[in-house]
Amino acid sequence: MMTLPLIDRKYHRATTVPDALLAKREMGPEAVYLGGGTALQLGWSDGQVPPSLIDVAALRRPAPCELDQDHLHLCAFTPLEAFRADPLVQREFNALSMALETIASFEVRRLGTLGGNVTWTKGDLRPLMLAVSAEAITSDGTIPLRAGSSIESRTRFFCRYGFHAHQRALSSRKLVFERPFRRAV
Ligand SMILES: Cc1cc2nc3c(=O)[nH]c(=O)nc-3n(C[C@H](O)[C@H](O)[C@H](O)COP(=O)(O)OP(=O)(O)OC[C@H]3O[C@@H](n4cnc5c(N)ncnc54)[C@H](O)[C@@H]3O)c2cc1C
Repeated sequence: MMTLPLIDRKYHRATTVPDALLAKREMGPEAVYLGGGTALQLGWSDGQVPPSLIDVAALRRPAPCELDQDHLHLCAFTPLEAFRADPLVQREFNALSMALETIASFEVRRLGTLGGNVTWTKGDLRPLMLAVSAEAITSDGTIPLRAGSSIESRTRFFCRYGFHAHQRALSSRKLVFERPFRRAV
């Protein structure tokens, strides 16, 4: 049996974006934002447990994504399964739909968020977001996603929807998603 070394860790459940930013200031530079915790917990058996966690799951918006004239806005705090089941994604965004189908199991997708996936350097949605020149909307401003550069930062935090991508790029039928292997689920 594995015991998770969470005793003595500080935990804060953020209720608003300003609350999350305040918690970050108060808990210090080592505090990390926690989406679903599914990627972070992969390191826990090696003792890589952050000293403080700021849970941002409650910042999830009612709808996973919203389409305006040019852009699809994607909520960083929403679990992957909610995107996979979303009728707009299924109808209009074929490559995103294909990618979501291949990620982990239903149980992991119910917890793991888009923000966590794109921040985690091995997340499968990162290449897709790069391919469509998506931008991250963060507490440090709007940041274009770039290959080879991590958007992970201990201070940066997704705000508003979190990401946006050009609707035309993401809905293109020429855009397909394939992965050479699957992680164990
Ligand atoms: C059994 C198993 C199978 C898996 N299979 C796959 C797979 O096939 N494909 C795949 O891509 N992934 C897979 N994963 C990894 C993971 O489940 C997903 O990548 C998931 O989307 C991560 O999201 P999360 O919210 O759980 O991230 P977390 O673990 O909460 O966070 C990951 C990183 O993102 C940061 N972060 C999270 N939210 C925010 C935010 N709002 N603002 C700033 N930083 C933030 C965290 O601080 C951390 O650095 C698997 C995991 C498990 C346990």
